[in-house]
Amino acid sequence: MVLERGEVANSWRRERWESLRLLTPNWQSRLPGYRYEGADPDGFMTMAEVIAFVSRYAEVAAAPVRTKTTVTSIRAVDEGYHVATDAGDLHCRTLVLASGACNVPHVPAICAGVPSSVASFTPLGYRNPAQLPEGGVLVVGASATGVQLADEIHRSGRPVTISVGEHVRLPRTYRGRDVLWWMDVSGVWNQRYDEIDDLARARSLPSPQLVGTPGRTTLDLNTLGSAGVAIVGRLAAIRDGRALFSGGLRNQFALADLKMERLLDTFDDWADAHAHEVEVGARERFEPTRIPATSPLELDLRRGAIRSIVWATGFRPDYRWLDVPVLDHKGYLRHDGGVVDAPGLYAIGLPVLRRRKSTFIHGAEDDARDVTDHLAGYLAGSALRSRV
Ligand SMILES: Cc1cc2nc3c(=O)[nH]c(=O)nc-3n(C[C@H](O)[C@H](O)[C@H](O)COP(=O)(O)OP(=O)(O)OC[C@H]3O[C@@H](n4cnc5c(N)ncnc54)[C@H](O)[C@@H]3O)c2cc1C
Repeated sequence: MVLERGEVANSWRRERWESLRLLTPNWQSRLPGYRYEGADPDGFMTMAEVIAFVSRYAEVAAAPVRTKTTVTSIRAVDEGYHVATDAGDLHCRTLVLASGACNVPHVPAICAGVPSSVASFTPLGYRNPAQLPEGGVLVVGASATGVQLADEIHRSGRPVTISVGEHVRLPRTYRGRDVLWWMDVSGVWNQRYDEIDDLARARSLPSPQLVGTPGRTTLDLNTLGSAGVAIVGRLAAIRDGRALFSGGLRNQFALADLKMERLLDTFDDWADAHAHEVEVGARERFEPTRIPATSPLELDLRRGAIRSIVWATGFRPDYRWLDVPVLDHKGYLRHDGGVVDAPGLYAIGLPVLRRRKSTFIHGAEDDARDVTDHLAGYLAGSALRSRV
């Protein structure tokens, strides 16, 4: 049984901004036994299209979904778990936590210093630029969400400043193919969690600077800078109404450029090894991220130039309803490839759960197979134990 507090595809219905499109191309939208089969495989789905895609999957899979059922508590009992919901209680022997990785926006504690004259928004509450007061906007964070919102808000005519910390730079297309095609064929996205040297770091990496547009455009800091978005360093503190930025832009840019180059090298190696099988364009290299001519180290938020702040500083899962002691000191689930640290408890849909692609739609299939294999083994084992 699948319990859902809202409707099927709830996060896409309720928690996304209006203009958002998937950053994964249509051909990559696939779920177990089901895939995109429309006329535009290289396009990027709008939210309405994603909702239709996931809803149709629920029908085709005939999944036993109980919507409008919020889980309010889960606790371990003999032989499984007691699940309390606002629509009655349930008992189950095994349980898969599939409640998402992006339930709540992560806003750093320094937000407490924002003066009351400046409005704060998070990506879960943001819908379109008209929501924001007229005037300057500070977007904090330059991962997929931050660069997309900075671009959209800038196009609405508001002066935008983007504060940049660690980020992952990617071109939309490389050697004539979508960059996510390269991630797929070169095996990067399939890399398993137990083959990754620093798994904790891989799991906390920011999302890549990518956007899905019909024109397949690259959206990086050079694009934003050329359009007139002001670029400042990482927001380090807010003191007496003044936002203080780190001066480390040069290092952040160098690191992101270097990592992008290394990834492109991996793609090139793959292309060399498969030259007889696939046709790709010539090797490309991109202009390094330009250091802005001026980049203030502080902005006085009380002076009226900044009227709102968009905190594009990431998301966190929400397990407030999970009364099983399986969270670490930061509130993340303790698990080994989705096998949670409690008998019969599993998870899916978390960053690098079993593969680099785990948190993307197309990552669900392989992970679901592995996790359900383990789950079936656990059930078979417990059936055996109860017979002995
Ligand atoms: C802004 C944004 C853009 C993204 N873009 C892409 C993209 O382009 N391509 C891509 O592949 N992925 C993208 N993702 C990642 C995307 O979220 C996942 O691919 C996909 O939604 C994960 O599905 P899920 O079912 O694991 O989690 P979710 O979609 O978050 O679903 C979890 C569900 O659990 C329900 N739930 C939570 N708590 C409870 C409770 N207590 N009781 C009952 N129900 C509960 C929620 O209502 C929700 O419907 C994006 C994510 C974000 C935040």
